[in-house]
Amino acid sequence: TPEIRPLVAGNWKMNGVRASLDQIKAMSEGVKGPLSAKVETLICPPITLLYVATALCTDSPLAIGAQDCHEKTAGAHTGNVSAEMIADCFGTHVIVGHSERRTDHREEDALIRSKAEAAHDADLVAIVCIGESEEQHKSGQTLDVLKRQLDASVPDDATAEDTVIAYEPVWAIGTGLTPTVQDVEEAHAFMRAELVKRFGDEGARMRILYGGSVKPSNARELLGVSNVDGALIGGASLKADDFLAIYRVY
Ligand code: PEP
Repeated sequence: TPEIRPLVAGNWKMNGVRASLDQIKAMSEGVKGPLSAKVETLICPPITLLYVATALCTDSPLAIGAQDCHEKTAGAHTGNVSAEMIADCFGTHVIVGHSERRTDHREEDALIRSKAEAAHDADLVAIVCIGESEEQHKSGQTLDVLKRQLDASVPDDATAEDTVIAYEPVWAIGTGLTPTVQDVEEAHAFMRAELVKRFGDEGARMRILYGGSVKPSNARELLGVSNVDGALIGGASLKADDFLAIYRVY
């Protein structure tokens, strides 16, 4: 198996005001040091803080990204932000297809794929989120759902450099619940096999993050599972101490 550089990523969702930049500053300092050669870090604050956050991190390995982008480059789309605009503010990554976007904004796989393509066109890394609902989990459909979402929301020309997969069981997001280690291992092994089938070498090297109630107390166990190449962290990414504790698991 190839050497993969894990990614520890934070999604602030609709949380954070200017005062919260103190946390980003603390993270940007905290990730300096030899571990940063081994582990990549990223925070996705609300778009209002993106530009200032990137300015705070110019001398830090902490990358800054956005939580969503529009599929078009510009135009009459009131309230939306393009991938180019994110890149223009020195953002380097964008999350697409988060379950809250899929639910709250009825986003579906084809749109999410277009957003990932827009991200790539703007030279951003797309973090494509997939994951089964509680009902799908309970009725044993997890792997079917993952296959369908991977096939339909990841662009055909995705590479290990420009695309990251985030597996987030919807029922584990913000609930404090996590799948068993066995379930995480099975899901990640399945996604790895699917990615290798479709993308060959690129699929073998593409990072697959786990997301859903990751916190300092369970990070060691979850990040130790094979084919888990990092985490996408919601609640526990708001505080520098928690985020850095998870990073230091590596
Ligand atoms: C998320 O929003 O991607 C997430 C995983 O949230 P939490 O860590 O709070 O469950």
